[in-house]
Amino acid sequence: MQDILDRFLSYVKIDTQSDASSNTTPSTAKQWDLANKLVTELKEIGMQDVTIDENAYIMATLPSNVDKDVPTIGFVAHFDTTPDFSGTNVNPQIIRNYDGKDIVLNAEKNIILSPDYFEDLMQYKGQTIVTTDGTTLLGADDKAGITEIMTAMEYLVAHPEVKHGKIRVGFTPDEEIGRGAHKFDVEKFGAEWAYTMDGSQIGELEYENFNAAGANIKIHGKSVHPGYAKGKMINAIGIAQEIMAALPKNEVPEQTSGREGFYHIHTIKGEIENAELGLIIRDHDRNSFENRKKGLETIIFKLNEKYNNCIELSIKDQYFNMKEKVMPVYHIVETAKEAMEALNITPIIKPIRGGTDGSQLSYMGLPCPNIFAGGHNFHGKYEYVPVESMEKAVEVIVKICELTATK
Ligand SMILES: [Zn+2]
Repeated sequence: MQDILDRFLSYVKIDTQSDASSNTTPSTAKQWDLANKLVTELKEIGMQDVTIDENAYIMATLPSNVDKDVPTIGFVAHFDTTPDFSGTNVNPQIIRNYDGKDIVLNAEKNIILSPDYFEDLMQYKGQTIVTTDGTTLLGADDKAGITEIMTAMEYLVAHPEVKHGKIRVGFTPDEEIGRGAHKFDVEKFGAEWAYTMDGSQIGELEYENFNAAGANIKIHGKSVHPGYAKGKMINAIGIAQEIMAALPKNEVPEQTSGREGFYHIHTIKGEIENAELGLIIRDHDRNSFENRKKGLETIIFKLNEKYNNCIELSIKDQYFNMKEKVMPVYHIVETAKEAMEALNITPIIKPIRGGTDGSQLSYMGLPCPNIFAGGHNFHGKYEYVPVESMEKAVEVIVKICELTATK
């Protein structure tokens, strides 16, 4: 346990926040600090063909130790952390033999991690929990995933009696700003399929995510003295309001769950002459996703008829549900499920209400379900990870490698 914990701590102490406003890859130079360390470590544990490219994408190989033909599979994790919360000077606390009570993250600032609010904590009673000190995030997302893949590979190198095919490892920058897969060289990776180790609680196994689009609406009004405005003024703010009112009221994030889709207005700016709306559209079902986009187009079309074409709409697809690419090779989900069951882990299979790097990779030709990395409360000061969950994730990786070689 100490080894995996030490490894994890050594990663989270390195600040790797990404930055959406940057155009470089990686988006922040500090991501190189951890990337370079990972390269050294991969070599030290005996991985072959360790490479890092000019964008900090890391790949490595564990060669097959069986004679027969076995599919090459991969494991992928990201080493950046979210730009939304500080990752500077991460100072983890280790709670051994957790007693099921409140955990004081920061006495001075009265920041408490409490099972009254975060009920999931109770399932880790008696375990070793790593938390923040209440001032930063932890970075278990996704340094837990990196730790697990590294530890599993170290184990497999040291245990040649465990039979497996060729295994590829991929560590990426910039997942948190949606660019983790952008410069991932799927052909160079050369795996038939892969798994991202980037889910949350123990047992999670995900192969469905949203279809996603972003929309921007610009409204051009006309300002006239309010006293003499009748029939002349076009108030862009009022039109923005009409657009919002025309969208289905219940189909918003705060009123949907499971496979229910939504429209989410996240930005509104406005004056009489100019108003702007920013929204996102999400739906697991592809048809219903397309219909949602059409629905928005129809609303704008009608209002343009009414207001003399003063509204501009642009809709951009962001990512698609990986299910479409995973279903034809569903055995890759079954293998992961079988691995968990063999280790007495109950698989929790549910649709992701978001996207993953795996969804983009799946559309780039590398089907890529997502497996738990063990952490909770990502992207904030309440983030924590039980060490036992990380250990289980290591076992799942090893078992998937083994199972793939027996099929
Ligand atoms: Zn992540």
